Amino acid sequence: MNDQPNQDRTTNVLIVGVGGQGVIMVSKVLALMCQKNGYQVKQSEVHGMAKRGGSVFSHVRFGSEVWSPTIPAGEADVLLALEWAEGLRWLNYLEPTDGTFITDTQHIVPPFACLNRKRGADRVYSKETPAEIVAEVANGLALDATSMATDLGNPRASNTVLLGTLSTALDFPVEEWLDVISEFVPPKTIEINRQAFMTGRDWSERAKTETVSETTATPDVVIPEDLQVADQVTPDHAANDDFELRLTREWCKGCDICVKMCPERCLGLDAEQLVELRHPDRCTGCRVCEWLCPDFAIDVIRTSFKKMSA
Ligand code: SF4
Ligand code: SF4
Repeated sequence: MNDQPNQDRTTNVLIVGVGGQGVIMVSKVLALMCQKNGYQVKQSEVHGMAKRGGSVFSHVRFGSEVWSPTIPAGEADVLLALEWAEGLRWLNYLEPTDGTFITDTQHIVPPFACLNRKRGADRVYSKETPAEIVAEVANGLALDATSMATDLGNPRASNTVLLGTLSTALDFPVEEWLDVISEFVPPKTIEINRQAFMTGRDWSERAKTETVSETTATPDVVIPEDLQVADQVTPDHAANDDFELRLTREWCKGCDICVKMCPERCLGLDAEQLVELRHPDRCTGCRVCEWLCPDFAIDVIRTSFKKMSA
């Protein structure tokens, strides 16, 4: 990996994902970091639909003097993907000889990819594996940032895990990253976002020197009790030996996407228009509802994974 991009020329960072993931927050944190370090910065962004499934991307260019706000194809020094398939869609923007591809391996499947809702039906979605893609790029870091953030107590902090990974590709001080992130996140989530940043950074530094897998990548951390998602989980859940489905009703806005798209018709909206699990016995743990929920209100926890890593 190129640890220290040449700052005499313009450095290009392309950040991509889908609505609700925090692409713009990542972009703003990076732009402010560049400004604080004395660089001229140009940033441009396109917002998709304000829910999962809509593409969002942001170009950030910085250097001693920057003219254009957009990155030409093949010239991104870093392509940072908050969503797997979005990352693949933009791979042609990555600089081919020394560019760094950083991606969350989590899939957020757009509703149109789940039209066949029969049990076990195939989704129209990328079939490539992280190992196949990492082997094709000059520098590749594919990590399960969403699970890392979930283990810390807040899946919404996955973008901060990825900022930690990005920080290993750019030459800015760690404390400055942490200070700038603290300016952008809600005050009560500052501590968890600091942990998320360091989790992503530590993972990347270990990935450079040793082979780390998604399951061995998450270090043990102590989560303050008031930040634990478990506090917000309703008793409504489905579980078997391999998975547990949890609903965080406080985050549900009643959009009905999960209800409509569940292949087994397990879910419904209650009288308050919040998600409820009506048929836990039917749930297969397929994760379609988790991937589609725009508000991270559903988690399918792999209990077999938790037992392995305990
Ligand atoms: S994981 Fe979600 S989408 Fe899949 S069967 Fe269970 S409730 Fe339905
Ligand atoms: S759980 Fe998520 S997808 Fe389901 S109704 Fe609530 S906000 Fe919508």
